[in-house]
Amino acid sequence: MTRLILVLGDQLTPDIAALRAARPDDTIVMAEVMAEGTYAPHHPQKIALILSAMRHFAEGLRADRRTVAYSRLDDPDNTQSITGEIIRRAAETGATDVIATAPGDWRLRQALADCPIPVTQLPDDRFLCSEADFAAWTEGRKQLRMEFFYREMRRKTGLMMDGDKPAGGQWNFDHDNRKPAKPDLFRPRPPRFAPDAITEEVLTLVETRFPAHFGAARPFGWAVTRADALTALDHFARHALPTFGDEQDAMLRDDPTLSHALISPYLNLGLLSPMEICTRVQAEWRAGRVPINAAEGFIRQIIGWREFVRGIWALEGPDYTTRNALNHSRALPPLFWGAPTRMACLSHAVAQTRDMAYAHHIQRLMVTGNFALLAGVDPAQVHDWYLSVYIDAFEWVEAPNTIGMSQFADGGVVGSKPYVSSGAYIDRMSDYCGGCAYAVKEKSGDRACPFNPLYWHFLIRHRDRFAANPRMAQMYRTWDRMDEAHRARVLTDADAFLARLDSGAPV
Ligand code: FAD
Ligand code: SF4
Repeated sequence: MTRLILVLGDQLTPDIAALRAARPDDTIVMAEVMAEGTYAPHHPQKIALILSAMRHFAEGLRADRRTVAYSRLDDPDNTQSITGEIIRRAAETGATDVIATAPGDWRLRQALADCPIPVTQLPDDRFLCSEADFAAWTEGRKQLRMEFFYREMRRKTGLMMDGDKPAGGQWNFDHDNRKPAKPDLFRPRPPRFAPDAITEEVLTLVETRFPAHFGAARPFGWAVTRADALTALDHFARHALPTFGDEQDAMLRDDPTLSHALISPYLNLGLLSPMEICTRVQAEWRAGRVPINAAEGFIRQIIGWREFVRGIWALEGPDYTTRNALNHSRALPPLFWGAPTRMACLSHAVAQTRDMAYAHHIQRLMVTGNFALLAGVDPAQVHDWYLSVYIDAFEWVEAPNTIGMSQFADGGVVGSKPYVSSGAYIDRMSDYCGGCAYAVKEKSGDRACPFNPLYWHFLIRHRDRFAANPRMAQMYRTWDRMDEAHRARVLTDADAFLARLDSGAPV
């Protein structure tokens, strides 16, 4: 009896668990459905990337003589939900059970669990640390810190190790990283891939079906096949990796990608694997073509941060996205959806996001995330925004980064302190402030950079929670030493700014 093998849009890996379990007479089910395109208003480039990559992947399966029941978004019989399509395909084939790889999204895990045709959800073993191993690592630990998890992962994978010692004698070379960057016309740009006929067809479909979503489907230059994703990796390894560490935290108005890899969408869809990426990066370092701070810093992002946040997501469970430890309730300001703002950093980060469906980590964390946190925006709304607008956003990775790292809404599970800063950090790491209507050096008054009063406002409204945190105590001492009239002015300015934000007036 044929069984159904479900392959979701971010499970495009030929040896993924469900496909490994498939027998020759099983039917592989792949479905483009409106429910997945609209549970959040995803960026049109993200939808197009997923649909085109799915169509290319299905072609590969058919070329391997596998039976694929593929539902296109505009098929008249499409029920437009994953479980609806499972039921439809089961009726067509007579299948009575389904093998799936567990989705990285609690909503879909539940939908599969509730499906009237029994679905076996196999663990997704494309991660280097399984959910069970991560849970075991957390046992007996009061605090979960990425750095210690990362060291375990170095030992486990053997990456950047000389025997049982870290290569170069240190686990972490971050003191050599995180420098500001200068505009450089000759800095290599990530490759773009011209849409083929399949992608063109998908782009038109996405433009027709999702016309109101933030951003445009075209111009579209993302890789939609493993072959092109490998080209993107090769380009990064040869051209941008050497300066990855140095420029990791820098932000430039006219250079949205700097030395970043832009490979998260390919990794998250399953076109590339974490180990092959890290092995390649390590080889570049061992061959003497890239410095150790770049190779180590990059590998840490993948086997450290990426695996760590996935473990947290699995551990913390379905209610994680509703956490709100700081009780923030402000509505997400319209500037996040492109409404005009005089704040140059936010204006650049949001415009870039609209145009490319991409912003790098520091733009997400220290510009948009920092602003939302300082302004006290409801973390659920912030989560919905990040999940919608970024090409690489899937709940298992987006939620811990947003709810945890960026908004501290999990109360300190991901990070030991909130990532907040005044305008000085953005000024140091970017060239945004030079073109801004606000003055970054002014601490109060109408022209003062809004990050400055908001920073203190945040610290003061959450003093009870953070004053005892050893990593934050110094900031409270600085505040307490300030002149009282100045402190009152700063808080009044912050209140006035927040009132303007709430009124819908441009800020
Ligand atoms: P690079 O800077 O070149 O880094 C290399 C790789 O390291 C990335 O491709 C990614 O796979 C991995 N990586 C780096 N940092 C992280 C991290 N904190 N968590 C997980 N992986 C990491 N990443 C996503 O993949 N999807 C998301 O939805 C997502 N949402 C985020 C939301 C917020 C608020 C923040 C602060 C970060 C988020 N990140 C997310 C992490 C990070 O910003 C992106 O992985 C990175 O910007 C992707 O671009 P890149 O490939 O050029 O990365
Ligand atoms: Fe952003 Fe403030 Fe700099 Fe303007 S002055 S770009 S608001 S940090």
